Amino acid sequence: MAALFHHVHSAPLARAVRSRAVSISSRATVTVPTPTPPPSRADPRVLLGLAEPELQQLALDFGQQRYRGKQLHQLIYKSKIREVRDFLQLPQSFRNDLEKAGWKVGRSPVHSVVRAADGTIKILIKLEDDRLIETVGIPVEEDSGSIRLTACVSSQVGCPLRCSFCATGKGGFSRNLLQHEIVEQVLAIEELFKNRVSNVVFMGMGEPMLNLKAVLGAHRCLNKDVQIGQRMITISTVGVPNTIKKLATYKLQSTLAVSLHAPNQKLREKIVPSAKSYPLEAIMKDCKDYFLETGRRVSFEYTLLAGVNDEVEHAVELAVLLHSWGRGSHVNLIPFNPIEGSEYRRPYKKAVLAFAAALESRQITVSIRQTRGLDASAACGQLRNEFQKSPMLASSDNPMPL
Ligand code: SF4
Repeated sequence: MAALFHHVHSAPLARAVRSRAVSISSRATVTVPTPTPPPSRADPRVLLGLAEPELQQLALDFGQQRYRGKQLHQLIYKSKIREVRDFLQLPQSFRNDLEKAGWKVGRSPVHSVVRAADGTIKILIKLEDDRLIETVGIPVEEDSGSIRLTACVSSQVGCPLRCSFCATGKGGFSRNLLQHEIVEQVLAIEELFKNRVSNVVFMGMGEPMLNLKAVLGAHRCLNKDVQIGQRMITISTVGVPNTIKKLATYKLQSTLAVSLHAPNQKLREKIVPSAKSYPLEAIMKDCKDYFLETGRRVSFEYTLLAGVNDEVEHAVELAVLLHSWGRGSHVNLIPFNPIEGSEYRRPYKKAVLAFAAALESRQITVSIRQTRGLDASAACGQLRNEFQKSPMLASSDNPMPL
């Protein structure tokens, strides 16, 4: 699920390649390179997304001292300044030179904000080409009293996969997001909540694996520059052939969440049309290989649709499937959030609990996702669809009050 290129580099980028020794027989070892996520920038003059060494090089390129790069880094990622002209710590001449050369921070305005009674905030961000993307901030109070703030980010404008229950899929697809357009969603959530984001889930609009290069670039930036732990980041996919294998090669310490939504191929194809090109067997094999390669277990998402896939028999079949491919699986159950015009209904609580119990009694750990912000168009893509009909351009320039 999420439900989320063209690259011109303005400065030389160091592509670090780590190596690992892999034993291929009892007598021989061979060194296999482990790629690091690609430094991915689509816009040659966007600061957001650049790492500190790149910003230092930029400062040097402009005849400034190296430490100005460190200042740039703080202004962008800590102070979250949106415009080059507001980098008041920097000399006026440097700011002018950056602007004259066409450099910008890469932050977009917030088009509208909807707050739910439970504290969830959904925002629409208006991109440079007037397209709108949806981001959600979900605060959860911990037992300690501190707030865990999760940002649910989009990776595409719309989504081409058209899962039958999904508002984003119904809205069509426009384009992939650029790396900085993913990162800026997290900064926007931090600004609104006046708090650090502790977790990021790629479960907003779009299929992240269809925009893997930008997603990996954003992942690097969120981890290294925005300082969010890799283990606090979840990349979600409904399954795109060959991409789980590819992701595994980066050995990220992040969670991969695979959206199954059905325990067998036939039912899955009805709910997720793109499943035709990626049989369940192949997905499960890739998930197993992902675990072997990264040491990180894959979690499985399952949207419960009343009368479609929410029977106890489905749970039993799901348990058999998961056990046949490994142990210790974790399933996130997501009771369907009704969307306008949908053929599906939300399951009864009793059905959700029975489904969970059937999995648990078969040694599968389960969590039931609490529906947050139901009154704020909580389902993926719902808010965006209210504002932006095809061709997915902003329909109003009058932002709602923050
Ligand atoms: S249509 Fe796209 S955004 Fe919606 S659930 Fe499917 S993959 Fe996710």
